[in-house]
Amino acid sequence: MAVTQPAALPAAHEGILRRQSLRESAARTYARSLPIVPVRARGLTIEGADGRRYLDCLSGAGSLALGHNHPVVLEAIRSVLDSGAPLHVLDLATPVKDAFTTELFATLPRAFADRARVQFCGPAGTDAVEAALKLVRTATGRDGLLAFTGAYHGMTSGALAASGGAPEVRVARLPYPYGYRCPFGVGGERGAELSARWTESLLDDPRSGVGAPAGMILEPVQGEGGVIPAPDSWLRRMRAVTAARGIPLIADEVQTGVGRTGAFWAVEHSGIVPDVMVLSKAIGGSLPLAVVVYREELDAWRPGAHAGTFRGNQLAMAAGAATLAYVRENRLAERAAALGESMLRRLRRLAGEHRCIGDVRGRGLMIGVELVDPQSPGGGAGTGAGAPVGEGAAGGAWADDGPRPAQAAPALAEAVQQECLRRGLIVELGGRHASVVRLLPPLTITDEQAEAILDRLADAIDAAARRSPAPSGSLPGPPSGARR
Ligand code: PMP
Repeated sequence: MAVTQPAALPAAHEGILRRQSLRESAARTYARSLPIVPVRARGLTIEGADGRRYLDCLSGAGSLALGHNHPVVLEAIRSVLDSGAPLHVLDLATPVKDAFTTELFATLPRAFADRARVQFCGPAGTDAVEAALKLVRTATGRDGLLAFTGAYHGMTSGALAASGGAPEVRVARLPYPYGYRCPFGVGGERGAELSARWTESLLDDPRSGVGAPAGMILEPVQGEGGVIPAPDSWLRRMRAVTAARGIPLIADEVQTGVGRTGAFWAVEHSGIVPDVMVLSKAIGGSLPLAVVVYREELDAWRPGAHAGTFRGNQLAMAAGAATLAYVRENRLAERAAALGESMLRRLRRLAGEHRCIGDVRGRGLMIGVELVDPQSPGGGAGTGAGAPVGEGAAGGAWADDGPRPAQAAPALAEAVQQECLRRGLIVELGGRHASVVRLLPPLTITDEQAEAILDRLADAIDAAARRSPAPSGSLPGPPSGARR
């Protein structure tokens, strides 16, 4: 495929990027690997100030279920603006909020929604996570938290502690069922089973060092951790383990929600009913919005327990309600499931041709391609690739003394990301070593757009693999925790 290079970068584009690098923080993230200046966008496509067009598979870190500037979202925003409704209302009741809440509850699993309460939080996912932790601490009177290796729940460490409001959270870290890099060396259902047993033994062993926790928080599919779908059987087991011990289960669906994984909410694949759901990203229809929804029995916190100035974003609620309704009415979760499967099939064929692809995995339109050093022990085509997820999954099973996953290749992943960008494709990197290329396209893309995305990605992997001095790029890279 021909690489489209603009003849010369327009001055405006260059100037904006130069001023950004001079004035903005060293902590800026996406802007480093994606030196583009978006000026217009529609659906899957972003147009830069340099006149180039890009297919956007980052989608606002998974926020854009309907892509950029979907007509129903724009219409919803315009109708609030034209109505003269106040834009800032703290957490007061409004018709816009009422409609959003009705639509949100209509999409949630029935058994959960029928007896649920919602707390509107500050605008980011991380604030809803803070709220969820506070909620279960208050309800249980306990402190500690169970969380998983590779988890990502946000960036607010200690705002509460600094305000004198709450102690730091004590976290016991449990193994997430990551088939390709299974800590027990077995992967698949067996690895998930061992991970569940480890969890049970920690909770039941009075000398494990883990006291009774206030809750367990998990992602049904780890996103930033490298696109790792948990087997449904493991999720059911976590539900049973926590229910039997009176531990509230918090499902962080900030990234997996609103059809992304092929069900409206990812917990629906396994049929579990969590005690708490943390929701953000797509629920705001591209504008900032975050909520925590929970079983009403947990509603033991006091008025003002989780306050915040910006909890009433009317534009986000209108855009979010329109998005939720559109996804529901147009069955976009089913569309994501079918399209995601066909994209995974093609990527698995690609893995057969490239020894640098260690694993291909995903659920719905949350897709990851793990790049590895083919020369490292365990390297080679598709070591764990092709493993299905969900019921009866066997995500890359190894015998105890069998092949091991190849070493992560973060430098190669970075090269692939840059080659994608040269071909007008925006992808994100994630995973433990930032070596997983992540695809999060809008749920509205056509079959042809999906093909175009995969054509460009295949071409980029080919180019990067041919140019890459693999061994030097195979050392474990920096943790990807700073990327979002
Ligand atoms: N939870 C999950 C699962 C996420 O993926 C993210 C963001 N990537 C967050 C929480 C935090 O959301 P935010 O960046 O809006 O604070």
